[in-house]
Amino acid sequence: MTSPRTVLPGEVWLVGAGPGDPELLTRKAERLITEASVVFFDALVGAGVLDLIPDHVRRVCVGKRAGRHSKDQPSIDALIVQAALSGERVVRLKGGDPAIFGRATEEIEACRDHGIAVRMCPGVTAASAAAADLGLSLSLRGLARRITFVTAHLTKGKALAHDWADLADPQATLAVYMGKAAAGEVSRGLIAAGLPSATPVALVESASHESARHFVTRLDLLPLAAQTALGDGPALILIGEAIGRASSEEICEAERAVSSY
Ligand code: SAH
Repeated sequence: MTSPRTVLPGEVWLVGAGPGDPELLTRKAERLITEASVVFFDALVGAGVLDLIPDHVRRVCVGKRAGRHSKDQPSIDALIVQAALSGERVVRLKGGDPAIFGRATEEIEACRDHGIAVRMCPGVTAASAAAADLGLSLSLRGLARRITFVTAHLTKGKALAHDWADLADPQATLAVYMGKAAAGEVSRGLIAAGLPSATPVALVESASHESARHFVTRLDLLPLAAQTALGDGPALILIGEAIGRASSEEICEAERAVSSY
């Protein structure tokens, strides 16, 4: 067997940190962060994952959380490029999977524009972690034949430009990333396009973390649940018949939380 690819000086690895639980980090990711000379990480990377970075490796937080951007994307691209050009072994650690709503393309292209070799290590995405926390499958034979990952990130002052008719597929499970602020628009858009109001919905906050919380409700109650049931953590919205397979205990808990509001 050939020896695994290491992080070479002047090279950049985009590495998936998974949803937070350090045990959900791949073995490859764990090895790469010990071979780096510098790790640039996001605010979404779990504290337990950061603890695995050895002391001799420099850490740079380039954290981005909704509404609290500390660095814009071009500045992050420039930092990575600069580090690689100066001969550092660069790991860019990103929450979940770098290839899913992770602005990976910008960083890959910035590196390629400067002739820097760039490689990627996948990670467990939030939708997979949320399904595991709920104890259900995102696909369901005969009922959910399609899984759609969609971002509901709102640009200030702009409505979401989704094709609701396409997304309102009763045979699909919809995983909505960055959807907390736009929960009302998502619910109204899907119902107006014909998805039944009673379609099961789950809100999963900080999936895989010790502080994880989840609520199961229905599509018409999603806006209220998103406003009342969630804290500060990252949250994923799952919509579709497959989500109805959550246990009835979770559904009762969600109904209590919403009705006590
Ligand atoms: N690349 C990441 C997604 C980044 S977009 C991935 O593959 O998971 C950021 C959004 O991901 C958050 O707004 C939230 O919707 C979702 N997210 C990330 N981590 C999460 C977690 N632990 N629990 C719930 N949602 C999470």
